[in-house]
Amino acid sequence: MENKKTAIIGTPCHMTAAAKMDMFTDYLGESSLDIKIGLFCMENFSYSYMKQLLEKYGYDMKDIIECRVEKNYLWFYLTEERMFKIPLKEARSCMRKNCQICMDFSSEQSDISVGSVGSSEGWSTVIIRTEKGLKLLEDAEKDEYIITKPLEESGLKILERLASKKKKENKVEITKREHSGRPVLYRRYIPQEIFQDEVRECQFEDLKCDVVDVGSCVLCGACLLACPEDIVKIEDRKPQIKGKCPEGCNLCYMACPRTYIPEGEPTKDADKKPLGDYLKILTAQAPMIKGQDGGVATALLNYALSQKMVDEVVVVDKSKEHPWKPEAKLTNNLAEVLSAAGTKYSACPIFKSLKDGQSKEEA
Ligand SMILES: Cc1cc2nc3c(=O)[nH]c(=O)nc-3n(C[C@H](O)[C@H](O)[C@H](O)COP(=O)(O)OP(=O)(O)OC[C@H]3O[C@@H](n4cnc5c(N)ncnc54)[C@H](O)[C@@H]3O)c2cc1C
Ligand code: SF4
Ligand code: SF4
Ligand code: SF4
Repeated sequence: MENKKTAIIGTPCHMTAAAKMDMFTDYLGESSLDIKIGLFCMENFSYSYMKQLLEKYGYDMKDIIECRVEKNYLWFYLTEERMFKIPLKEARSCMRKNCQICMDFSSEQSDISVGSVGSSEGWSTVIIRTEKGLKLLEDAEKDEYIITKPLEESGLKILERLASKKKKENKVEITKREHSGRPVLYRRYIPQEIFQDEVRECQFEDLKCDVVDVGSCVLCGACLLACPEDIVKIEDRKPQIKGKCPEGCNLCYMACPRTYIPEGEPTKDADKKPLGDYLKILTAQAPMIKGQDGGVATALLNYALSQKMVDEVVVVDKSKEHPWKPEAKLTNNLAEVLSAAGTKYSACPIFKSLKDGQSKEEA
């Protein structure tokens, strides 16, 4: 895996984990993650709570083939033509607890962020944050994988308002939790020197106490990827260990996006900037792709892979047996990238796919 380059797509919490991997290469080893495409994300839903809610309406989760958030409703598709909707307000009772303390709407730590808010139907809003992201987008446009136009001022305003609302509301929840003995470590700003002291002796049991048991775990699988002993497993939608941690190892704690993040990344300022730092913002569409919105996320991954900018990509497809369940895949197959288009509104341990990829290579 050392020399391979990977593009990854994911929610803002996935991007934080990817950024931590870049930050701690001295401990976690070189990361293959080269291009990070982040999604906008207001919340994610718990599979089991949603299952119970749908039962109340007389539906079975296993019959749902697709899900869309539109105009304050969560739409469930039974077939392409048959669908029903639940008010988003009610669906939010199924929101994962970790999402209530999430301060990032627009994937502030990615190279390019993509979402629907701010753009008209069938288009995606795109925030370019790094030079690498800018080059990818410009090349993809030049080679006609996507078309772009400026984002309307009114769209930008809506986007900024929504991102600020998330920060404001979730800050209240963070403060509430911090005062009731449920620490939200990733939002405590501590200098580098203190950070090293704080995490030095933290092992999986600490990760369980500080993150999983207090409702902060985003189920990203970064702990599983970081574990050199391969003893972290995801079972019952939770990370668990099957074995004993050797003395001195703290890598899962270091990699987790919901333990401490040393000062500097992100900066305290990030809480005040609704969309974080960026170079450019626009609206785009990939006319040849049927995606959730403009198909831009899929088009960019497709372009990066076909132009050999990366060797493989991590995408999130539907599980074949349970279409509502997301399944992460590490792939170099363009057909698999195209088939993963569309949003799956449930948490997905995307970093597990990188571990599975490493294991395959070693076998
Ligand atoms: C949980 C969640 C909540 C979201 N909430 C909002 C929101 O509130 N407002 C908003 O504007 N946009 C939101 N989005 C983003 C939006 O749904 C679209 O993904 C985005 O606009 C890109 O559209 P597209 O047509 O360019 O993507 P597509 O071309 O359809 O590609 C979508 C990509 O997303 C990846 N993906 C799908 N589900 C997941 C998942 N669960 N985890 C990680 N990656 C995944 C797939 O691998 C695929 O590559 C959310 C996305 C997710 C996953
Ligand atoms: S914690 Fe929840 S709201 Fe935040 S990025 Fe992750 S899935 Fe989205
Ligand atoms: S061996 Fe290290 S990385 Fe693995 S669970 Fe234990 S402390 Fe975490
Ligand atoms: S405990 Fe593991 S799965 Fe949960 S957020 Fe941390 S790294 Fe991700």
